[in-house]
Amino acid sequence: MVETETFSFQAEISQLMSLIINTFYSNKEIFLRELISNSSDALDKIRYQSLTDPSVLDSEKEFFIRITPDKENKVLSIRDSGIGMTKADLVNNLGTIAKSGTKAFMEALSSGADISMIGQFGVGFYSAYLVADKVQVITKHNDDEQYIWESAAGGSFTITRDEVNPSIGRGTEMRLFMKEDQLEYLEEKKIKDIVKKHSEFISYPIQLVVEKEVEKEVSDDEEMKEADSEEKPKIEEIEDEDDKKEEKKKKTIKETVTETEELNKTKPLWTRNPEEVKLEEYTQFYKALTNDWEDHLAVKHFSVEGQLEFRAILFVPKRAPFDMFETKKKRNNIKLYVRRVFIMDDCDELIPEWLNFVKGVVDSEDLPLNISREMLQQNKILKVIRKNLVKKCLEMFAEIAEDKENFDKFYEAFSKNLKLGIHEDTQNRAKIADLLRYSSTKSGDEMTSLKDYVTRMHEKQKNIYYITGESRASIENSPFLEGFKKKNIEVLLMTDPIDEYSTQQLKEYDGKPLVCITKEGVEIEEDEDEKKAREEEEKKCEGLCKAVKEILGDKVEKVVVSNKLTDSPCVLTTGQFGWSANMERIMKAQALRDSSMSSYMASKKTLELNPHHAIIKSLAAKVEADSGDRTVKDLTTLLYETSLLTSGFSLDDPSSFAHRIHRMVALGLSIDEEDLPTAETDDAPPAESASASAEESSKMEEVD
Ligand code: ADP
Ligand code: MG
Repeated sequence: MVETETFSFQAEISQLMSLIINTFYSNKEIFLRELISNSSDALDKIRYQSLTDPSVLDSEKEFFIRITPDKENKVLSIRDSGIGMTKADLVNNLGTIAKSGTKAFMEALSSGADISMIGQFGVGFYSAYLVADKVQVITKHNDDEQYIWESAAGGSFTITRDEVNPSIGRGTEMRLFMKEDQLEYLEEKKIKDIVKKHSEFISYPIQLVVEKEVEKEVSDDEEMKEADSEEKPKIEEIEDEDDKKEEKKKKTIKETVTETEELNKTKPLWTRNPEEVKLEEYTQFYKALTNDWEDHLAVKHFSVEGQLEFRAILFVPKRAPFDMFETKKKRNNIKLYVRRVFIMDDCDELIPEWLNFVKGVVDSEDLPLNISREMLQQNKILKVIRKNLVKKCLEMFAEIAEDKENFDKFYEAFSKNLKLGIHEDTQNRAKIADLLRYSSTKSGDEMTSLKDYVTRMHEKQKNIYYITGESRASIENSPFLEGFKKKNIEVLLMTDPIDEYSTQQLKEYDGKPLVCITKEGVEIEEDEDEKKAREEEEKKCEGLCKAVKEILGDKVEKVVVSNKLTDSPCVLTTGQFGWSANMERIMKAQALRDSSMSSYMASKKTLELNPHHAIIKSLAAKVEADSGDRTVKDLTTLLYETSLLTSGFSLDDPSSFAHRIHRMVALGLSIDEEDLPTAETDDAPPAESASASAEESSKMEEVD
């Protein structure tokens, strides 16, 4: 007696299956594409193994995918001679371990995604339940016995050692017990149409077992026998001169036989001349390759000849995958073939990380067929292929950029990748920089390229200016922009966290340095008169700067006069080589701040004062009269704290800031200090309370 073991589906998978079974959905035909795609993957795996160990094919020499509709029993069978599954594979791959895509797919569905997208989320297998009530998976892996996996959904599946079915040698047979209202998928024509539509470019033969009426010649004797039988096939006479002369007349009868028909005889698309391939064929190929439900955004089909020979088709999808930046995830983006034989689809050496959204195939004439993963890492041929692929990708992106609407889509989906490219790819940095787009103080709702920015630069302007921050709203009215607005100098508004990294790497464009305007030492280009005036101001404000620095202590590195401000009294800039305020925010959010790094990199702040501002002027007058004035200390601290906020930092001690503001409010409302509740009064000297922690001040309140 063989034992049947019962397993529970992992909760999310169970949920997914009920969704698939219960959702009203008419485009059910995609189940076949998913199952054929799994078969093709399984064949890829065994073929790859066989390149280094041919004996793995002893269990079955032929590579095939075979579809057999059994109308009588209402079963559709899809069998392959792929790698098969061991018992452990069955348990792990078909039900007990959820992939990240399981949940992601359900979320996508509830926000309006289509079931046909299932393959992209790595749970295509379960689409079988669109058309079947019950599914059996009969499978034989070289390292294990033949097993039957079976489930009619409902939260559980069983695995049994197979002692009932004939041996399948090696591979997997999916048996779908079709729902009563899905019997159309047993029709030959229907299957042929679906395979043509979704699976034409599968590189293994897809066979359909069909019933055919054939004409058979029978002699008179046989004819008599046939005539006796109950079925009475039609008999036709053949009008043949020669035959007529013969004594014995030959007749033909029609008979039903089963045959296999190959459904995908197309030669690999990449081997064809690009000029002769229709757009529609690329679309079909792209969809078959990627499981994408949408068309591709761009395609590049090319061959490279010379000391090295290969052909390739590269695609850019319309959107980013749901898990694009999931770290360490292996992506199957570029399929590597060697002389038409599939080698692998997760070869990291073929395309750099930043291009991990580009899909396609590469077919090399030069690589050895039995190449191993280890060899690939060292391989010079592969390095040259990679270089060419990057080059062609950049050409393709430049082509996309010719059509604004397409480029907007492209940029929205993949700008992060381009910026990562700036970071990673020193050689192509300049070319990638051409593709970058930013909002700016002059771009309105559109985005501008660096190239266009440069054309709008002032005659004397040496730098490309930018500001970084959390959102456009948070930086659009930043005090840092005041001087630039006044002088009508354009500033790029960068709000993507990755901008902080990519601009550090890019450093310049077209010979023009990229300058972050929130950092210290940025001087807007000025003429002689302006320079002279500023130097005078500096001298005049020396006393004030010194006094302010004394009050703020080591909260700031320096206090200087600024030429960047018009409306605000002051701002806080950060060191040239340290983090910007925005970067500090990002690092805090990422909790990557190990203390050694943060004390080293965290922004050393410079307070820049606007000498023309009434507040600063009157502060200067007060300092001159009495530098020890209590209100000067209090107001200076308040100015520093508001500058933290307007300059993009966060407050370390919001409650003592609030405290000070409340006292200002009280003053504005002419409330006597005595009338304020105790929690709002503060007997400690203001300058000290600024540095006192919230905890300390609450202690003081208790003492009160
Ligand atoms: P994906 O194909 O994206 O991995 P699926 O849900 O389609 O997701 O398949 C789940 C897994 O089940 C596959 O990764 C594979 O390990 C296994 N599997 C499915 N069909 C077959 C098959 N015909 N032969 C071998 N393994 C298969
Ligand atoms: Mg699949």
